[in-house]
Amino acid sequence: MLSVENVSKIYQVGTFGGKELHAVSGANFEIHPGEVVSLIGESGSGKSTIGKMMLRLLPISAGKITYNGRDISTLQGAELKEYYRNVQGIFQDPFSSYNPIFKVGRVYKLIRETFFPGMSDEEWDGRVRNALHAVGLNPDECLEKFPHQLSGGQLQRLLIARALLLDVSFLVADEIISMLDASTRIDVLNLLADLKARGLAVLFITHDLSLGYYISEKALIMHRGVIVEMGLTEKVYNNPRHPYTRHLMMAVPRLDRKWPAGEAELPPAPATNGRAYYDTTLARSRNGDAEWVRPVMVEVEPGQFVAVGKR
Ligand code: ADP
Ligand code: MG
Repeated sequence: MLSVENVSKIYQVGTFGGKELHAVSGANFEIHPGEVVSLIGESGSGKSTIGKMMLRLLPISAGKITYNGRDISTLQGAELKEYYRNVQGIFQDPFSSYNPIFKVGRVYKLIRETFFPGMSDEEWDGRVRNALHAVGLNPDECLEKFPHQLSGGQLQRLLIARALLLDVSFLVADEIISMLDASTRIDVLNLLADLKARGLAVLFITHDLSLGYYISEKALIMHRGVIVEMGLTEKVYNNPRHPYTRHLMMAVPRLDRKWPAGEAELPPAPATNGRAYYDTTLARSRNGDAEWVRPVMVEVEPGQFVAVGKR
């Protein structure tokens, strides 16, 4: 359904934009209908950049993303609108998705105006009620409130209800659990499980290894802009192959902090299929180098892929 093909993102950074930061290098993966896929990595590894490119909130530097075979960068007008009816994102801070001066119900009015202009009041109200009930909220209590009168968990659920109303088929959920308190976390996790049961596909972005394990059947492990390993969650977690994934699973480090620059965290990489595992210490160091070493995914076991260097 959604296919990410050799996608890279280079940000121009530095005072005059004279430096390049390879935020994402040659990402390759697919998400099929009804699949929940975790994108896991430490802070700054490029997770949100991938999510935003999939939502077309950021232009892609190289490669392409297709939705049901169509290159999403070519979508315009009615087709782009249709894309957003199917593909939506929810981000870490739910407050930032609401305008503080309007009641939260306004978000739903806007959806109706944009996507369902011909629907009768009665049918629309019924749909809103159903969607709110599905996320465990009472419509009479929520819609007339301002964002600051609701909790982070409630706002997060309202956003999920919004996705339900649009009847989306793919959701990018970027760190949506991280800022919730423990009791709300379980509710939102269960809600995501319900959505999955309805056939919704989710890219679940997290820096939390245990959440990734809990929620997804497939996992993508990202380090310094490179997807170093991906595949069935069970395999990636229980028999990690890439040195970085091994390091993660052994050390269970805190992913909410950055590695100190230059820290040698990789044990020597053994070879697979005659090639060395992709060395992420190279990933961001080769500024504009034509000889850029691109990661290539090799299937080391059925359903488990590891990045190796091209040379
Ligand atoms: P993550 O979501 O995994 O924490 P991001 O995708 O937000 O990572 O960021 C990846 C890298 O790109 C980081 O080094 C970050 O500082 C950088 N970055 C993100 N957004 C921008 C931007 N708009 N301009 C320049 N650099 C950016
Ligand atoms: Mg992020």
